[in-house]
Amino acid sequence: MVHSPKATKSLAVAHDVLDEAIGVVQECMARGGGADISAALSQQINIKLKGDCPTALRAVIDRHSWTGVQFKVSPNLNALLEDLFKARNDSGAKENTPPNKRRRSDEKDKADTGGAKSTPLDTSMRSAKETPEDMALVTEIPWFSLDDIDVGKRLGAGKFGAVYVARERRTGFIFALKVLDKAQLIKHRVEHQLRREIEIQSHCRHVNILRLYSFFHDEKRVYLMLEMAPGGELYGLLQSRGVFSEARSAWYFKQMVEAIQYCHTKHIIHRDIKPENILIGLQDTLKIADFGWAVHAPSSRRETFCGTLDYLPPEMVQSKKYRSHVDIWGLGVLLYEFLVGKPPFEDTDEKGTYRKIKNSTPDFPPQITTEAKDLINRLLNKNPDKRLTLADVLAHPWVALNCGGANAQRLQRHYGGIV
Ligand code: ATP
Ligand code: MG
Repeated sequence: MVHSPKATKSLAVAHDVLDEAIGVVQECMARGGGADISAALSQQINIKLKGDCPTALRAVIDRHSWTGVQFKVSPNLNALLEDLFKARNDSGAKENTPPNKRRRSDEKDKADTGGAKSTPLDTSMRSAKETPEDMALVTEIPWFSLDDIDVGKRLGAGKFGAVYVARERRTGFIFALKVLDKAQLIKHRVEHQLRREIEIQSHCRHVNILRLYSFFHDEKRVYLMLEMAPGGELYGLLQSRGVFSEARSAWYFKQMVEAIQYCHTKHIIHRDIKPENILIGLQDTLKIADFGWAVHAPSSRRETFCGTLDYLPPEMVQSKKYRSHVDIWGLGVLLYEFLVGKPPFEDTDEKGTYRKIKNSTPDFPPQITTEAKDLINRLLNKNPDKRLTLADVLAHPWVALNCGGANAQRLQRHYGGIV
């Protein structure tokens, strides 16, 4: 049967939505008990299609007999979203998401993360090493308000607000409080990004992924309670050093590969790996943060064009469908940037970068070893299916040689990191 272009497009959207819906169901089933799954699904689908054809899709949902399956949605998150959408409708805001520009050194925020280092971190801070069993047990996140916490020094500023040191009054637990301005979130239409950030990050339990403990909101702001990362952004450290040695790069790179490997086993694609989104946590352990572009996609191929220019993979530049291989590309760009101090496809303008991403192989300065070059070239394969798997990355001689055996303890002594 031949469909009109419009019908083909609608079918493609319906396919994507269905894939996403299946993802929601799987996620719901993994979480177990609670509210009605069909409500959660219709909400997801209505939001995605902006009310275009919910009736037809609801029929699909019903046919699959998903009603009655139980899903524990966070009532807090739904209340927050309802509030944001209501405010949007009231204000009639029309603006679009700002492109995710690479931050240049002159835009780096002036906050002194060094001061945060001197904050005595509470000993009751949970161990960063938690097992998948812990994750299964924690289905609900506790509810706080500003009355429960003391807010301290500012750690830094982001696009929609600032981040502060904070302490929970009852337990003395220290964490980072990210304060987001609701009006800004609404104006830039990033409620869904926030939703994903909260849903995905609060469910991740890995030593190299920044924990999102909980969140709450008041009339004007949304507050995210995050694991404290006293060292600030890895971007700052890379800027101050220019490049990282191969040993340091390998040690940092391995932590990021393990974080992304964990995400992929949970069917999460991060889609925005870069030094700005990596924080330096307790004992100098690297923590991947900023899940604003992440997506939970158990079976689907994605189409959304997102991420940061220098890190875009060729399949996204060419508007092809893509899968988790985009993160493998991102890791390749990251490793290149660690070793060379700049991204591999940098150019004077956007078009030039796109051209290089599609057609060029990266140039390496002479000091880069053959093994490191080999690994980067295998990560930056233009054909996503030919890129190394994450297991192969960890077994690659450059990683194994630098981080394996007795070297692991030596690197940990030098560069920190909970292993
Ligand atoms: P942008 O997109 O501009 O990076 P953002 O909204 O993503 O902004 P963040 O990057 O999360 O904001 O936070 C801004 C700054 O606050 C960071 O650069 C970092 O210095 C500091 N910061 C954020 N989270 C933490 C944390 N958990 N611990 C310590 N400092 C933090
Ligand atoms: Mg950020």
